[in-house]
Amino acid sequence: MRAAVFHGPRDVRVEDVPEPELDAPTDAVVRVTHTAVCGSDLWFYRGDSDRDAGSKVGHEPMGIVEAVGDDVRSVEPGDRVLAPFKISCGSCEFCRKGLHTSCVNGDGWGGDNGGAQGEKVRCPHADGTLVRIPDRYADDEDALRSLLPLTDVMGTGHHAAVSAGVEEGDTCVVVGDGAVGLCGVLAARRLGAERIVAVGHHEDRLELAEEFGATDVVAARGEEAVEQVHQVTNGGANHVMECVGAASSMETAVAVCRPGGTVGYVGVPHGLDGGLDLFSFFGDNVTLRGGVAPVRAYAEELMADVLQGTLDPSPVFTKTVDLENVAEGYRAMDEREAIKVLVEV
Ligand SMILES: [Zn+2]
Ligand SMILES: [Zn+2]
Repeated sequence: MRAAVFHGPRDVRVEDVPEPELDAPTDAVVRVTHTAVCGSDLWFYRGDSDRDAGSKVGHEPMGIVEAVGDDVRSVEPGDRVLAPFKISCGSCEFCRKGLHTSCVNGDGWGGDNGGAQGEKVRCPHADGTLVRIPDRYADDEDALRSLLPLTDVMGTGHHAAVSAGVEEGDTCVVVGDGAVGLCGVLAARRLGAERIVAVGHHEDRLELAEEFGATDVVAARGEEAVEQVHQVTNGGANHVMECVGAASSMETAVAVCRPGGTVGYVGVPHGLDGGLDLFSFFGDNVTLRGGVAPVRAYAEELMADVLQGTLDPSPVFTKTVDLENVAEGYRAMDEREAIKVLVEV
């Protein structure tokens, strides 16, 4: 089969690789139909994080179940499914408390299960991991495009909002105008936030933030951004969503948080090797909550809203490529031509 393989910084190629096969009775093999390139893929693509040359890439698969092991109960061949960026069993202590990313039987995509940017993946713990899309929508291309972000960015944006404690009537600030930040705006609006201030520095992305429900946008960085948010919110918001992971965005997030407020963070931390300055939290009793998003925990409730037409994150896909051209998708995201790239397999 064909799959994207990482060879080194800015070198992702589509190659012939062995097909994954059922291994354990709890496995399923899924023929991937849709997948995506993620902002987090850019860390290894740019050489900012380590990844073995020769490893398969991609972690946001949607497709059709091709085969299932004897113990799989929740899906059968022919079902349209999506899978979160983490594999989880659904039954351990942490899965039961909605923390699927800490699953004791958990795993990631890549390695011998195949990366999600390829024709097939082997999904371990299929019952715990796969999310079945109702038959009625299984071939509805618009619905599928809107559901694909539930594999990662929409669930992650939602986790930022939940972690920041966003509720009906709240004022919140979303730091970051990438796909996760934009989905964070959608999530905050969905949870009933009355005022949503989106902070970023790309005009086109902030325009999309407004379409998604941001009531105010701040196109600035650092001190200037902080000053503008303080003006708009009369001294900061009680709920701040940090959707980037860079040291500078965390600094902005805590600086725009109102004393006693909460920062919900979901960006993979980068550049914080010097540590986090706890005094910025200490002085104003700011709470830090969040971490890697257990998107599996949110899949059903978000899917229900997508399918009833009240939630649509698909505009984050500003470019579509086919699998053979996945390298062009990476390039477009690396050069910030595209917010997020959908890959048709
Ligand atoms: Zn992702
Ligand atoms: Zn588990």
